[in-house]
Amino acid sequence: MDRKHFLKISSVGLGSIGLPSFSPSAQKPIMVSTWDSGMKVNDAGWKILSANGTALDAIEAGGNFIENQNDCCVGLKGYPDRDGIVTLDACVMDHLSNCGAVAGIERIKHPISVARKVMEKTPHVLMVGAGAQQFALENGFPLESGELSDDAKKAYANWLKTSKYEPVINIENKKENGPFAPSFFEDGTLNHDTMGMLALDTHNNICGGVTTSGMAFKMHGRVGDSPVIGAGLFVDNEVGAATSSGLGEEVIRICGTHLVVEFMRQGYRPEMACKKAVQRIVNRDRKKAKTLQVGFLAINKKGQVGAYAVQTGFVYSIRTNNQNEIIKSKFLI
Ligand code: ASP
Repeated sequence: MDRKHFLKISSVGLGSIGLPSFSPSAQKPIMVSTWDSGMKVNDAGWKILSANGTALDAIEAGGNFIENQNDCCVGLKGYPDRDGIVTLDACVMDHLSNCGAVAGIERIKHPISVARKVMEKTPHVLMVGAGAQQFALENGFPLESGELSDDAKKAYANWLKTSKYEPVINIENKKENGPFAPSFFEDGTLNHDTMGMLALDTHNNICGGVTTSGMAFKMHGRVGDSPVIGAGLFVDNEVGAATSSGLGEEVIRICGTHLVVEFMRQGYRPEMACKKAVQRIVNRDRKKAKTLQVGFLAINKKGQVGAYAVQTGFVYSIRTNNQNEIIKSKFLI
């Protein structure tokens, strides 16, 4: 089915701020993922969650699914950096606050699984670049080809026509240059981004994960928010969890997802918690905020869900026993 046909504006999502985004009763299991591509990611996770599996396994399955696709923004077929190299970032965080992450890893197909191994097999949280790749190889992950996908080759060649190799601030935000314009392509697909996933399982445990090729045409070595715990992902099993997509630097600056979870700890429902974090970004520099996109997605311990973005265009996918759809996020400016 055409993805556009899935797209619905949640009637409750348009309700007053502070009201629950969904039914106030606890709903579990539940899986939510950023963007419309999250629908299929949720399908992969749902097979595990609906069979009383763990949120962690569901998150990894969802991440692996999207890492196998021909996606502009996740996995080895994603868009490269300015040097024409695809570098991947990923992380996971579980209900015990265990976490693992990799950043700038090359030629490894499933960075989210490597992140899980970092969490489970090392005393560390974050491994980067060549060391992360070495760790992956030592743990049986095959070394893949470094060749760009056909789509990525085209996009890179196009980008090279107009772009110089210099760190031009906000160049990624320009519609013609990167995936950050909060808009739809002509075929109706969204011009986006990172896969952030949150799940609450039947054991009452919350886990999250993120996987991405990061900002297209980023400087080689640049790391965004996605693999940074507290920025691209934060989980507190007593309170809830949050993930983000969009211009990572803005999220890192405010420890975005940690902030969202802390707002939920103070009693704010997920949508309001996300809104307050977005507000923090916008208040810092409203003019700049008009040129960028950040979206937060959050879930609380009751299985209530909410999202908020700087601008229009952010959507997320939700899967519960009663719901399987794409929801448009509200936005601030
Ligand atoms: N947040 C990611 C980054 O900054 C990009 C994205 O969401 O697409 O690398």
